Amino acid sequence: MNVVEMEAVHRAYGPVTALKDLTLQVRSGELTALLGPNGAGKTTAISLMLGLSRPTSGAVRVLGGDPRQRAVRARVGAMPQESALPGALTVRESLGLFASFHSAPLQVGQALALAGLDALAGRRAARLSGGERRRLAFALAVIGNPELLLIDEPTTGMDAASRHAFWAALQELKSQGRSILLTTHYLEEAERTADRVLVLHAGHLLADGTPEALRAQVGGARVRFRAG
Ligand code: ATP
Repeated sequence: MNVVEMEAVHRAYGPVTALKDLTLQVRSGELTALLGPNGAGKTTAISLMLGLSRPTSGAVRVLGGDPRQRAVRARVGAMPQESALPGALTVRESLGLFASFHSAPLQVGQALALAGLDALAGRRAARLSGGERRRLAFALAVIGNPELLLIDEPTTGMDAASRHAFWAALQELKSQGRSILLTTHYLEEAERTADRVLVLHAGHLLADGTPEALRAQVGGARVRFRAG
């Protein structure tokens, strides 16, 4: 089963074409990496999957439905590239607030542990570092107990130790049966975390396969990304 299906999707912003004839699937229960350089169209693809914008043409289905439907959105957890966090609330208060928006949320303690935020639970969001803010954004994305997580460049601004802890948290979420799509610039991140990698370049799909198949296919020669 596929949790995301995009078929022949075009998305233009005025004269700029962000996505061209993009067809892709994200499979249920897998961790999929959407890999591509700056401007490849990753954020545009995620915003279509989140129902935040509509394709110029083509079709986007998420969890079998229209991503703009409330019933679909309730089953999807989103971690955007830039998060507006409630700065005056502590980490624990933010999680409690977001939990109250959902019918069957995780416990706040579970989300704190997953995101490695136990020691920061009493700190106001306004006083968190950049990497800590990313961890809070991640905790807020999972607090609703989503079936599908859509995560846009989660590890930008994180140090190496936080990145490794974050990857472990993703594996834990996957082992609970959740499907995860994350975007990244980093080939290393895609290879180390993902069951399947989708390579986006200039708005279209360049390659799609397991990390091993991808390595064999592109050999690191034709497609060069920063190895993070
Ligand atoms: P990055 O890694 O830098 O976030 P990305 O792969 O997420 O890049 P997008 O942000 O989806 O790429 O952008 C794809 C293309 O669409 C780029 O050429 C970008 O300049 C353009 N674009 C994105 N959003 C807009 C917008 N709101 N208005 C005009 N052009 C846009």
